[in-house]
Amino acid sequence: MLRGFNTFRKRITLLSGGLLLSLSLVLVTSFYQLASTRLSEASGESLVNISQSISNILSANLMEREREILLLSKRSSLYANQDLSELQHDIDQIKNSYKNYAWIGFANLDGLVLASSNGVLKGADVSQRPWFIHGRTGPFVGDVHKALLLEKLLPKPKDGAPIRFVDFAAPVIGENGALKGVVATHADWSWVREVLLSSLAEASRQKGIDIFIIDKEHNILYPDNHLSDFRVPEVLPSNGQFKTLMWQDDKEYLTSLVSVRSPESTNLGWKIVVRQPLSIAMSVVNEVHKLLLFLGVFSTLLCMLLAYQFAGTLSRPIERLAQTAKSIQQGNRHLTFQDDSQLNEITSLSRSLQEMMSSLLDREQSLLKMNLTLEEKVRTRTAELEAIVRQDSLTNSFNRLALDEALLKQFASAQASDSTFSIIMVDADHFKKVNDQYGHTVGDTVLKKTAKLLANRVADKGMVARFGGEEFTILLPTISAQEALNIAEVLRQELETEEMSAGLYITASFGVAMYNVEDRHHEQVLNRADSALYKAKEQGRNRVIVSD
Ligand code: GH3
Ligand code: MG
Ligand code: MG
Repeated sequence: MLRGFNTFRKRITLLSGGLLLSLSLVLVTSFYQLASTRLSEASGESLVNISQSISNILSANLMEREREILLLSKRSSLYANQDLSELQHDIDQIKNSYKNYAWIGFANLDGLVLASSNGVLKGADVSQRPWFIHGRTGPFVGDVHKALLLEKLLPKPKDGAPIRFVDFAAPVIGENGALKGVVATHADWSWVREVLLSSLAEASRQKGIDIFIIDKEHNILYPDNHLSDFRVPEVLPSNGQFKTLMWQDDKEYLTSLVSVRSPESTNLGWKIVVRQPLSIAMSVVNEVHKLLLFLGVFSTLLCMLLAYQFAGTLSRPIERLAQTAKSIQQGNRHLTFQDDSQLNEITSLSRSLQEMMSSLLDREQSLLKMNLTLEEKVRTRTAELEAIVRQDSLTNSFNRLALDEALLKQFASAQASDSTFSIIMVDADHFKKVNDQYGHTVGDTVLKKTAKLLANRVADKGMVARFGGEEFTILLPTISAQEALNIAEVLRQELETEEMSAGLYITASFGVAMYNVEDRHHEQVLNRADSALYKAKEQGRNRVIVSD
């Protein structure tokens, strides 16, 4: 996961950004929760207040209407005499006093309308109307209902909505205490709209606030256009409370409920329900939330930038140290680790690296020296080994390999420069017998002494090599056959007189040959010397024979 963040600097930046962002998120979330709880409480309470004030106005209005009908029922004109003109006058007066009275009338005991506003329904039978039935026994306020009898008789409202009334009725009792009839008013339900419009400030309407008046069965009485299929939620807040509820449109609304105090006579059970979309109620918090989130992200980015700069001051000296180390690794030995950082750790690291580098360079020097010494040793040892390879292990004289190399060289040089060389082949006479008589150890000693004698005598004149067994070859550069013969003779005499072991003397036969310009191969010289030696053996041994 952190593969891309492979520098100290990037990781510090990421870490600080991550920390600040988490912190901001925690703070913003807690703030959001706190603020939304507070705001929903405040908005809810304001909805309850709106509900309450509407409820108060509505209830006062209902009571006012109730009081009016009671006053009307006590008018003496209703029962004092049979002159209906006075009653008609009273009715018209009341009707004119309150514009929302759609109809006012008086029905006698049989339910026959005797007097009414504008004479509407005069003479009609209202005995089956609820207001008449209830109004006979006492004051009555009827729930909102459609105009049945009056619909056709009254002017149609401008908005085309059906006419609805709230009925107020009261019994008319005569002086003798007997029931004379029922007086009733039909208040046009549209007065509620006026009540609501007057009580709900324009500002509230803009905040998406809706107001409903519902009856006991939760039927919507207001607004009128909701009477058909619209329903309030099943479970509503209790009186004077608010709740967040899901409404029919699957949206959440902050919803408050306040019961309308009913007129004394009838328990209408109306309730004022006020709702506001939760999104609007919470819009301030949501905006602040967005702003805070933006500020959180912005400050995180700013902090990351600062952390990046700051981390740079930490990482730059380290990067410089790494760069120096790399240069040193690439062979630049004259660099030093700078320790001018203001950070103690970096300075200390830099010093340690400097010391480590000095000690490594010292070691490198001593390794180089050791290497040189080792190479010298190897050279010496190789030279020694090469000498050993060319040396006969028993007599310490040169061996056959050394002889062949020297002979090849000598031959080549003779061929190239008109120089010459001679070869003497020496073979101990009847050496087998020496072994037989004295044993091999003595035989070996005799061979060693013979080699030493030959080498001493020849010295720097040429080289003595053990050709094999008891046979030696002497190579004498730039020496003529005569000189070689002389040397061979001297050698023969010295051998003869040398006491090899207690009372043991030996002799040897010598074959001498010289390089011939016609020779094509150094073996030819060897072969001639060998033939001369053979002849010396044939002629009785202990003698020197020179090749023809
Ligand atoms: P001739 O006079 O014809 O040369 O007779 P010879 O006995 O010397 O020659 P031959 O070739 O028959 O024998 C050589 C002997 O030299 C045989 C062998 O035992 C002996 N010899 C060869 N190499 C060594 C050695 O390294 N040490 C000892 N002790 N004897 C050796
Ligand atoms: Mg021999
Ligand atoms: Mg021999």
